[in-house]
Amino acid sequence: MYLYNSATHKKEEFIPNNPDIVKMYTCGPTVYHYAHIGNLRSYIMEDVLEKHLRYVGYNVKRVMNITDVGHLTSDADEGEDKMLKGAQREKKSVMDIAKFYTDAFFADCAKLNIKTPDVVEPATNCIDEYIKIITRLIEKEYAYLAGGNVYFDTSKLDRYYIFNDHNEEDLAVGVREGVEADTNKRNKNDFVLWFTKSKFEDQALKWDSPWGVGYPGWHIECSGISMKHLGEDLDIHCGGIDNAFPHHTNEIAQSESYLGHKWCNFWMHVLHLKTAEGKMSKSKGEFLTVSLLEEKGYDPLVYRFFCLQSHYRKSLVFSWENLDNAVTAYGKLVSKIAQLREDDGALDETAAAALREKFRGALDNDLNTALAVTVIYDVLKYATNGATKLAMIAEFDTVLGVGLIDAAKREREKAAKLAASGGGSGFSVVCTDGAPDATVEDLIRARAEAKRAKNFAEADRIRDELRAQGVEITDVAGGAQYKHI
Ligand code: AMP
Ligand code: ZN
Repeated sequence: MYLYNSATHKKEEFIPNNPDIVKMYTCGPTVYHYAHIGNLRSYIMEDVLEKHLRYVGYNVKRVMNITDVGHLTSDADEGEDKMLKGAQREKKSVMDIAKFYTDAFFADCAKLNIKTPDVVEPATNCIDEYIKIITRLIEKEYAYLAGGNVYFDTSKLDRYYIFNDHNEEDLAVGVREGVEADTNKRNKNDFVLWFTKSKFEDQALKWDSPWGVGYPGWHIECSGISMKHLGEDLDIHCGGIDNAFPHHTNEIAQSESYLGHKWCNFWMHVLHLKTAEGKMSKSKGEFLTVSLLEEKGYDPLVYRFFCLQSHYRKSLVFSWENLDNAVTAYGKLVSKIAQLREDDGALDETAAAALREKFRGALDNDLNTALAVTVIYDVLKYATNGATKLAMIAEFDTVLGVGLIDAAKREREKAAKLAASGGGSGFSVVCTDGAPDATVEDLIRARAEAKRAKNFAEADRIRDELRAQGVEITDVAGGAQYKHI
């Protein structure tokens, strides 16, 4: 399998340190608010990576942190603590906020078919790990105390900027207007390992440490949690592209200085989901959530399908129109799968081998999910029986996770129910935006009847009437689909 490695800036063959197990780490959410669908794009693509690794035969141990302390509103360790901000916004305790949004995150993940990692660890669980690492970093003179806090000294490293070749001047972590720069730092991009001099008198979560009562900086949690569960070597570390600098850069700096050797071989970064206005971000206030998609009648798995249609290393523009196109494509695919019959032959091993090679080839090439999706169309067109096609689609969907087989089953059941009630002689009407309307469906059936009777004028009249009501019909084999526009 070949993957683009952000640390070396090239596509490389992925070979784990130990052939028996891939050690994978993912930066988890900061649980002060709902995850937006941009965050979830990253988790969807990382989920496909994990599932593909398992599909090709690896055992995977995957660890994810939950950031429930230490992440300030600016990645430069300035501004307010995000968790405290969330607690104040909702007049709840930090722990209540963390619990609520952690549960909400995993509920969203379940709707998107994102597997929960083997280990999920809240940052607040591992304070002893951070203290151990920071103590050693001070001993090795990679870290210093200033103004009550402990900082990592980035000037001690020969190569600090791993993911880009920019120099310090170009890449200073932005200090936002109105936020005072931290004058304790010896170098612009030095970062906090341990805060004791919090700007917040009422910082809710504090722990005792050799440097005084305080709390960890944001970056140390991922090094500590990863080493606790995965040991001193990591095969692959993932996150959204905004994590590359400073977060992952700082993770590498502190981990390798502490360990005295290379820490992680592969770095995978997912590019952002954007809207016409730019990057989607929680701090902008208004953002799109899975619940909002559902309220608008979209199946979350169609959002996953929409994400898979683009490569993870390209930014993806979200618009309702783009999502509607995915709804139509997904609906058509499901209708075609619904027409396949399980009892139509036995597994055709030759066809299966050829199709598997295509599917695996697509994902082995830097996780080309768009191409992997087109292999589903290849399966449908392939000269083989229905049983083989269904088996292949079910197998590939263990990686893609877009629920094709279940959706096709639901469509078949719906059509069967309709046929049994005599309503449409096997003609199935499916609403693709999740807002079924019985009156609309009666009209669609009346239009089908008119077409059968070759009364095309009446059929067109009904189509126009529906369009005037904001309903768009697509004819598919064995029925019709519709959505509200
Ligand atoms: P956060 O909860 O802010 O710590 O972010 C959780 C994950 O989402 C991180 O891996 C981020 O890099 C990633 N992320 C943040 N914004 C976006 C976006 N607009 N598109 C894709 N991934 C994002
Ligand atoms: Zn992290």
